Amino acid sequence: MVTVNAEFVVRARRDEAFRRVLTRSDLATVDGTLVALALRYRHRVPARRVTGVDLILPLARLAAHRKSPVFLLGAGPGVASAAAERLRTLVPGLVVAGTYAGTARADEDERICAMIRSGTARVLLVAYGAPTQDLWIARNLQRLGPCVAIGVGGSFDYLAGVTPRAPSWMRRAGLEWLYRLARQPSRWRRQLALPVFVYLAARDALSHKASWIRVEKG
Ligand code: UDP
Repeated sequence: MVTVNAEFVVRARRDEAFRRVLTRSDLATVDGTLVALALRYRHRVPARRVTGVDLILPLARLAAHRKSPVFLLGAGPGVASAAAERLRTLVPGLVVAGTYAGTARADEDERICAMIRSGTARVLLVAYGAPTQDLWIARNLQRLGPCVAIGVGGSFDYLAGVTPRAPSWMRRAGLEWLYRLARQPSRWRRQLALPVFVYLAARDALSHKASWIRVEKG
């Protein structure tokens, strides 16, 4: 599963490997206000934004209901296990197959996959940030056993309380990006993707409108 936001779309235009991962995913959710708006107004898809962290709770409830063990991979030292503790508190009955920070380096892949297989995880949450986490999953999926894998970005940091989430009014107003930028100004370079996405969406909408006008005139 991939959780698509504007940064994903802009990056996928120039990064073929990432584009392939996105287009071949089994399920893509909308994790960005701009992507939701583009889908709603340009493609008439009634899309709603669901962030990685908002997706984890229902996923964990479903996993607990089905007795499917969950493995948490990635984030800083100790964060995945703290996030797992919090998840266990929020979702009674959740089976945690294991947690591991590790790194996304290819030379660690085999060891990490063996760890996940031996815990018989059926749901794998990977927090290495995009696109690293999504490339990691695509590279290792065949070695994981029967498992749903999803890249969850900074979700473990939120669950573990390492990073506070934006106030709910900012989230509702689609301003979470501004909150994250204020807390972590080094994100400015990544967030340049947002105006680029707006430009691309506007250009796409205009060319679509122009083609309709041509058809109607014709
Ligand atoms: N992260 C990691 N290894 C890396 C890069 C990132 O474990 O090589 C973790 C980082 O500690 C954080 C998570 O990946 O917990 C998500 O990072 P980011 O905020 O960049 O993700 P986003 O939510 O913006 O996709």
